[in-house]
Amino acid sequence: MTAMQCDTVKTGVECDFMTKNKGCTFIGGACRTIFEKCEGCDRTKTVDDVKYCAIFPDPAVKWRLGNCNMATHIKVESKDASKVRVGQQKQKKK
Ligand code: SF4
Repeated sequence: MTAMQCDTVKTGVECDFMTKNKGCTFIGGACRTIFEKCEGCDRTKTVDDVKYCAIFPDPAVKWRLGNCNMATHIKVESKDASKVRVGQQKQKKK
């Protein structure tokens, strides 16, 4: 399936929610505005003075379980640095 171009808020942007017969099939029929924590992210897109996320239709969802993994304005700590081994103990030689 090929993505169609948006004709609602992100006009011209290819989107999987856009359909030929029904238009935008995302909940509410259009992308949602940015979440408060999105402020400062380079991926915001302003349309008619309203800010949207250029890649996600509902930015608040991306922050529900922690930091948005695509945010450009926050520093993501390396997982390796915080890696803690649990349950691995050296076996004693008998
Ligand atoms: S990439 Fe994440 S932080 Fe940036 S605007 Fe989109 S949802 Fe918000």
